[in-house]
Amino acid sequence: MNEIYDVVIIGSGPAGLTAAVYGKRAELKMVVIEKEVASGGQILNTYEVDNYPGLPGINGFDLGMKFREHAEKLGADFVTDEVLRIEAADGEFTVVGQEKSYVTKSVIIATGALYRKLSVVGEKELTGMGVSYCATCDGAFFRNKVAAVVGGGDVAIEDAIFLSRMCKKVYLIHRRNELRGAKTLQTQLFNQENVEIIWDTVVEEIEGGDQVESLTIKNSKTEETSRLSVDGVFIAVGINPQSEAFDNLVEMDHGYIKAGEDCETNVPGIFAAGDVRTKQLRQVSTAVSDGANAITSVERYLTRYGK
Ligand SMILES: Cc1cc2nc3c(=O)[nH]c(=O)nc-3n(C[C@H](O)[C@H](O)[C@H](O)COP(=O)(O)OP(=O)(O)OC[C@H]3O[C@@H](n4cnc5c(N)ncnc54)[C@H](O)[C@@H]3O)c2cc1C
Repeated sequence: MNEIYDVVIIGSGPAGLTAAVYGKRAELKMVVIEKEVASGGQILNTYEVDNYPGLPGINGFDLGMKFREHAEKLGADFVTDEVLRIEAADGEFTVVGQEKSYVTKSVIIATGALYRKLSVVGEKELTGMGVSYCATCDGAFFRNKVAAVVGGGDVAIEDAIFLSRMCKKVYLIHRRNELRGAKTLQTQLFNQENVEIIWDTVVEEIEGGDQVESLTIKNSKTEETSRLSVDGVFIAVGINPQSEAFDNLVEMDHGYIKAGEDCETNVPGIFAAGDVRTKQLRQVSTAVSDGANAITSVERYLTRYGK
């Protein structure tokens, strides 16, 4: 017969790994399922995390390893598998992976969200060297420099306003001739003297050596191509929450799993933590906070239902 876990944690980014630490300390019977060979989630892809308290300037990979080592030191079990879906029956859940199924009393979904890419030449090579997807994370590295933001929605506008406070000059590059973001944000943006909007334009290539130096941009109306000198480019063209596997199970909002600070979803026993849930700010510190809260909610759930 299958082992029954108190909780199965799906994903081993900062949220899942923090849940693992708190779960082991609460002596829960649990397993962490991660589809990649390495733990750490999105921070593995960043050279420098400069806003996680107590560890300024830490390399993203090292931070991911520290989180994992901490969970392992406490005895957390990890398996490499991709979760395909969760089935609910008789007050229990079966987490169906590609390799195996796991029966459990509760589940924490901590599968994160991925930034959409522009998919242009130079983007991958220069990520972390001037190409960024997160102004909150990396804006401070561009103090008194020239930055471009690509996009036209709320996030792109917010990023441009945020960067205008520290950068010498900010270009907002948008493929249409009007922005999609909220009107109040647009008014704020238009009032920033050091922001220039480049309309009807797409980025075709990102150039640089060790660091971003310029963008090749193309006006989609005139087809004219030109080169724009910048020190950095912030890509704000959307985020894909990694929640498809749970589509028909829990309530979502634009692909994010609906859950508050207690990480409770509309299905008792299923919790969502980190970037995959509805929240204001997607960062390591908020993901870590969710991991801790999710385990507290799991413990309450197990006690309340006498599981
Ligand atoms: C380039 C970059 C730079 C960043 N820089 C910073 C920074 O400087 N400071 C900061 O605070 N934040 C930064 N962030 C944001 C930060 O990384 C995220 O907010 C944080 O990682 C979210 O943690 P999470 O655990 O919710 O999700 P994630 O880190 O996305 O982890 C989710 C994990 O779940 C796994 N998974 C997904 N689906 C499945 C499945 N079906 N089955 C099994 N496993 C699955 C994934 O493989 C992944 O390991 C950055 C993000 C990026 C992309």
